[in-house]
Amino acid sequence: MSDIKIKMNNISKVFETDELETHALQNINITIKAGDYVSISGPSGCGKSTLLSILGLLDMPSGGEYEIEGVNVTDLSLDQAAEIRNSKIGFIFQSFNLIDELSVFDNVALPLRYKAKVPSDKEIATRVAECLELVGMSHRSSHKPNQLSGGQQQRIAIARALVAKPAILLVDEPTGNLDSKSGDQVMDVLEKLNDNGTTICMVTHDPRYADMAKTQLRLLDGAILTTPRLATA
Ligand code: ADP
Ligand code: MG
Repeated sequence: MSDIKIKMNNISKVFETDELETHALQNINITIKAGDYVSISGPSGCGKSTLLSILGLLDMPSGGEYEIEGVNVTDLSLDQAAEIRNSKIGFIFQSFNLIDELSVFDNVALPLRYKAKVPSDKEIATRVAECLELVGMSHRSSHKPNQLSGGQQQRIAIARALVAKPAILLVDEPTGNLDSKSGDQVMDVLEKLNDNGTTICMVTHDPRYADMAKTQLRLLDGAILTTPRLATA
C-alpha cells in the first residue's frame, strides 16, 4: 500500500447563508504520510475545525479533491462517508465524549462492536487491553468515566480512537479542557503513539503544543500560511 494516508488537492469550503457567503477554506493542499505528526494551528475563525471536519468526513468540501489511503472520498454518499469514517478515522475531541454508563473497557470496545464484522469477545478483550496499556490506563478498565480525572478520561478517549486501527488519528484541541499538567501528559501519550508509528493530525491554537508535531501548518483566513517544516529526526 502507498504510504500516503491523506491527500488534499485544492480543497475549498464555502458556507452560504441567506445574505452571506463565508469562504472558510481556500486552495488547501495537504499530504500526510504514514507515521507523520501534523499540527494545524491558527487564530480563532481561521478554518481549523472546518478543515478537521472535512478531513474526518464529517463535512464535504465545496471544491477540490480528497483521498484517504488512495481512495477518492470527494463525492461520497452519507452512508459511504460514514462507513469510511468508521473504518479509517479515529477522532479525539476537546470534550472526551465518553459514555458515563459504560465502563472504561466498554467505552474503548465500542468502535469494535460497531464494525461490520464484529470481532470475537476474546479478540475484543485482547485489543482493548493493548490500547489501555498504550495510554497507561490498564488499571482503570472497570471504572466508570466519571470516576476518573479529565486527563485520564482523555487517555481513555485516545484508546477508543485507536482500537479499530484507523489510518489516522484526527485530534481537535485535545488539551482544551485540561489543566497544564494533564494536558502535558496527554501530549506525551500522543507523542509516544506517533513514535510507535501512529499517524496524527492535530488542530490546536496552542503554539507550544503545535511545536511538538513533525510537520507544522499554520492557517490564516482559510489558507495555509507557511511551508511545512519537515521532520529533522
Ligand atoms: P476555527 O476552528 O479556526 O476557529 P472554523 O473552522 O470554526 O474556525 O470557522 C471558519 C470560518 O467559517 C468562520 O468565519 C466561521 O464563522 C465560518 N463557519 C464555520 N462553520 C460555519 C457554518 N456551519 N455556517 C456558516 N459559517 C461557518
Ligand atoms: Mg474551532
